[in-house]
Amino acid sequence: MPKYQNSYFTMPDGTLKHVHPLTGTEVWTVPTRAQRPFYNRPLKTPKPLEKAEEENYCDFCQTEYYLTPPEKARIIQTSDGHYQKIEKLNPDLLEASHAVFRRVANLFEIVTFDYWAKNHGFELSATQAQWKKKYLENPRGMEHVLRLVEMKLKLSGKPVEEITSTSIEEKLKLAEGFFGGAHELCIAGRHYRPAAEWDNELYSSGEMTPEEHYGYMRFTIDAMIDIYANNRYVRYVTVYQNWLQAAGASFDHLHKQLVGLDEWGTSIQSEMEVVRESPNIYNESIVNFSASHSLVFAENNYAIALSEIGHRYPTLAIYSKSKNARPDEHGPEELMGVSDLVHACHAAMGSSIPCNEEWYYSPRDAAGVMPWHILIKWRTVNPAGFEGGTNIYVNPVSPVALRDQVVPRLYELRSLGKIHDLKIAAECELKPNPLLYGQK
Ligand SMILES: [Zn+2]
Repeated sequence: MPKYQNSYFTMPDGTLKHVHPLTGTEVWTVPTRAQRPFYNRPLKTPKPLEKAEEENYCDFCQTEYYLTPPEKARIIQTSDGHYQKIEKLNPDLLEASHAVFRRVANLFEIVTFDYWAKNHGFELSATQAQWKKKYLENPRGMEHVLRLVEMKLKLSGKPVEEITSTSIEEKLKLAEGFFGGAHELCIAGRHYRPAAEWDNELYSSGEMTPEEHYGYMRFTIDAMIDIYANNRYVRYVTVYQNWLQAAGASFDHLHKQLVGLDEWGTSIQSEMEVVRESPNIYNESIVNFSASHSLVFAENNYAIALSEIGHRYPTLAIYSKSKNARPDEHGPEELMGVSDLVHACHAAMGSSIPCNEEWYYSPRDAAGVMPWHILIKWRTVNPAGFEGGTNIYVNPVSPVALRDQVVPRLYELRSLGKIHDLKIAAECELKPNPLLYGQK
């Protein structure tokens, strides 16, 4: 029994109450607490950037390729401008090219290699074992791996004497996750945007060209396919991007994360339960509902973007219209359509808003179907004691105010040619039931 008859309504004093149709999250936007987040405005005074021939600002930067685990894949740009993928790069060649994107294991896995080995009897797949053998046969590869294990032990607080007395064999055992773990990073090639002068001019998703952004999503989806292919105990690969410290990122250097799980995770699980009861709910309660409340702010042939109700953080949502419910089932045009709207949202936000980008899609072993959608949550609000005690979240930015911050920027970016063509605000088609997920 829903608590309110209406999931989105304003009280006489101006308080807006909204409840997410799938999660039931209750959010209030209280007029006196409403404040506009200062997007594109730096929180601390920017300093002039110390320029370097090759970027050397953090462990994900170009000069530090050896500070991340062995590279599973890299995209490079050839002299004629095309992108080329190199898999399992020879350790001697790490510095021989500049990576546009790189894919490596996360040094500090959330779900560890040990978890898979001990709970499921997982062992390296034949390809992974072969790669590990080849990598360690190379003296540079062996040195790279041992140095990383030592660094990891040191960062986890192991005393130096203990690290030096650990045998090579034992250290190599600790490196299994580099080759066969299911927690990976897809790291962007740049720390700052090209020609940056100030240290706040970071290279965010919105700083990419639409083509680069498409390449980044394609690269991430390929990583997802590979995780499923190498570990048969993985039931769901969750994909997310934490941007800036306030959103949980350890470096201000753009990266996406993929984590293989042996379950769907609580939020997918509970959404799939709702979907089983009401298969068309994403159309009815999210997209059609948002259309009739003027919350849809962008659309193209393959995707639709809206300011979503019922989130504790201001949230932009991008839904794929495709009947294919998983990212890896999307054809190139469909993927470009989704990528274009995600890119446009990031570009409209600018690079100074901390945010989480979260991907949701139908698990492979699910009976029900959920459309592939991506949420971009602005981490500009800090839930505190009130939220803890009541389970009611105060989000100072109403869905309408959020929409109104994004729309003028989209017009501007479109006229500058910085984003691919799309329909904005009143131009959107708003056809009922535009999401075709689950249809044959
Ligand atoms: Zn960096």
